[in-house]
Amino acid sequence: MTNPYDMALEQLDKAAEILDLDESTLNFLRHPKTIYQTGVPVKMDDGTVQVFTGFRVQHNDARGPFKGGIRYHPQVSMDEVKALAMWMTWKCAVVDIPFGGAKGGVICNPKEMSQGELERMTRRFTHSIAPIIGPEKDIPAPDVYTNPQTMAWIMDTYSQIKGQRTLGVVTGKPLAAGGSKGRNTSTARGCIFAAREALKVKGIEPEGATVAIQGYGNAGSFAHMLAEEILGAKVVAVSDSSGGIYKADGMSYEDVIAHKKETGSVSDFDGAKNISNEDLLTLEVDLLIPAALEDQINDSNAADIKAKVICEAANGPTTPDADEVLFENDVLVIPDILANAGGVTVSYFEWLQSFNEFPWSEEEVNKRLEEKIVTAFNAVHDIAQEHNIDHRTAANVLAVGRVSESLSLLGVWP
Ligand code: NAD
Repeated sequence: MTNPYDMALEQLDKAAEILDLDESTLNFLRHPKTIYQTGVPVKMDDGTVQVFTGFRVQHNDARGPFKGGIRYHPQVSMDEVKALAMWMTWKCAVVDIPFGGAKGGVICNPKEMSQGELERMTRRFTHSIAPIIGPEKDIPAPDVYTNPQTMAWIMDTYSQIKGQRTLGVVTGKPLAAGGSKGRNTSTARGCIFAAREALKVKGIEPEGATVAIQGYGNAGSFAHMLAEEILGAKVVAVSDSSGGIYKADGMSYEDVIAHKKETGSVSDFDGAKNISNEDLLTLEVDLLIPAALEDQINDSNAADIKAKVICEAANGPTTPDADEVLFENDVLVIPDILANAGGVTVSYFEWLQSFNEFPWSEEEVNKRLEEKIVTAFNAVHDIAQEHNIDHRTAANVLAVGRVSESLSLLGVWP
């Protein structure tokens, strides 16, 4: 498995070379500002105490407070969190929102934990990171296997510690606890807006385009819904951690989500063929949306990818080796820092609404999101054309350039 932090550094170096970035700025950007690790003791339902390991990494805040999700997964590691924190810095810069980058995680298996155990773990972890987070410091959000409920617990714990309700400390909250309309679907919506622009560049009519989606959680399942709703596309394959399904005539979101709710997975869907996650990635489709974990498209399968456009709802699904092969094979890859920036963009809208306690309508959220993503896509596409480089490098050039400009204006204290 490729180390995600090595991947992130390699991508940064590539952008720095094109920008002709000076050595000191590059060195600054290669290092996170804060690395925090903590033991999280939790009373389990059986009376024993388990100590989980939690991380928060803050990469860079030259453009605004740190921002980034919290992930609960057995494979969370410090290097993964460091990579994700750096990618958050670039992501916020690509869509030009005033945040820096951070990420957090706890090594645990939420599928084997009760709601009570998850709540106690979340509250204890929040207590531990409370000194370094805050509405103007560092604002967490959901990521893999964390959700609006997790955010409500974090917000409540932080508010109890501070002695005042602090809505702006997290985003991705439930609507009834200060969340924003449209936040739940925002990652997928941004992804589909970006995919629509990329399909146009490739001369593919979005209506009727064929789509395969890996991962069927927040990002993947809503990508299915919105590929139908916004593009009029035909989703022919989807998967989750238990495997995938394929049906050449397409499958509706409504039917697949009902099946997943009933049976717990997408597998064994009526009229579809069960396939593996590996098979799904190499299907002949117009649009492939990886929406699960890192390192899915790598040097072992990149040459077999037949999709014309890849839109990365997941963070880090494609390795640098694979990027080179895909670029040679004329596959347009919309990189994670642009393709899934819809989530953090609407998080920014939620944060603004938290300060004013004045909710926006869903139409307004979606309209402003579309503007942000289309503007960012065009800026990235122009850089890619100008330098004849892939869209990931172009997005990094845009982002690293913006962060470096802020850094040079702020200078190094003292
Ligand atoms: P989630 O927990 O809601 O869903 C994850 C999905 O991936 C589940 O369906 C799970 O079954 C599936 N999965 C896990 N391992 C898999 C495997 N080996 N093969 C295929 N599927 C597998 O998580 P999410 O929030 O949808 O996040 C998915 C990706 O999107 C992550 O990379 C995350 O960082 C990224 N992302 C999410 C958001 C957001 O707002 N939720 C924002 C930006 C980026």
